[in-house]
Amino acid sequence: MQLVKESIKGLKAYSANQGSFRIKLDANEGKNILFKDITSEGLKFEEDFYINYYPDNDAVRLREELGNYVGVNPRNILVGNGSSELIELVIKTYVDKGEVIMGFLPSFSMYQIFSQIHSARFIGVESNEDFTVDIDLLIKRAKQMNPKLILICNPNNPTGHLIEQKDVKKLLEETDSIVVVDEAYMEFAEGSMVQEVSKYRNLIVLRTLSKALGLAAIRLGYMIACEDIIKVINCVRAPYNLNAITQYVGVLALKNKDRIYDYVEEVKRERAFLYDELRKLPFTVYKSYGNFILIKSDIEDLGEKLAAQGILIRSFSGDMRQYYRIAVGNRSENQELLKSLKEIVKDEK
Ligand code: PMP
Repeated sequence: MQLVKESIKGLKAYSANQGSFRIKLDANEGKNILFKDITSEGLKFEEDFYINYYPDNDAVRLREELGNYVGVNPRNILVGNGSSELIELVIKTYVDKGEVIMGFLPSFSMYQIFSQIHSARFIGVESNEDFTVDIDLLIKRAKQMNPKLILICNPNNPTGHLIEQKDVKKLLEETDSIVVVDEAYMEFAEGSMVQEVSKYRNLIVLRTLSKALGLAAIRLGYMIACEDIIKVINCVRAPYNLNAITQYVGVLALKNKDRIYDYVEEVKRERAFLYDELRKLPFTVYKSYGNFILIKSDIEDLGEKLAAQGILIRSFSGDMRQYYRIAVGNRSENQELLKSLKEIVKDEK
């Protein structure tokens, strides 16, 4: 008897780079800006959170701080163990076995993986050759396929493409599906839908502290939606899904939120620098609105060649085999990266 569910046959475990490195540009993580010199001033872990009791199931203080940061009422916010947990929670709440989830391809790989785990049918709408997308095509396909959920990543990982806000609104207006806008990288762009959640009954925005806030290690994501959506998803959320330590660190870190804006400006400057420099090399370089840049290269195993020099970037497989995603580092990391790339290009000649 086969015990494992049919839907998960063929799945591979998530594997992340764990080896040694000098420069890590493979996972779009931000820098430690909020927590590097923090003192526990004003908040005492033992007093504010009792380690022997379950954590605050409603994460009240954290949701207040997040509400302050994005400018919405905490009633419109639900928190999770990284935005990854929230993607799955939305699927658990809205999609039954065999129902359709749609999105553009290529995009964040977890959309398809969670769809598969929950026996949903993921239907991808191909991007244009330059990785821009055709929103009218998505709307047309959605009208044919009646998806329960449409998942768009804006700006998109791994291409860096940004869908304009007017197009996101058009999608919301022309479909009855729940539209999830994954804004993991929105701090590095413009056109957030966060302020629109009370206008649209079918909009869910996902955000994370892993990128612009440089807190990937604490696993903290949040969802912003109208109260009806938050209420129903809250019924599906596991009890105490966000541990007390993450809640504590999140609250503490958000007290320094002014630093985020400086860091975002630095990333944007470095992104422009890296983009211009990469274009001088024999790569196709895609314009990005995230904290990373996608390139295409004919050089075999470029990722492994850089890793041999201690620099990690993201490689892909299958149709995306010639593409590489590089997180924007600080100036010295970017210069080291460019130096190594130039040497590799020279050796190939
Ligand atoms: N969405 C997108 C588009 C991402 O790129 C990532 C991380 N790579 C996530 C969600 C998950 O982020 P986290 O779980 O760290 O919040």
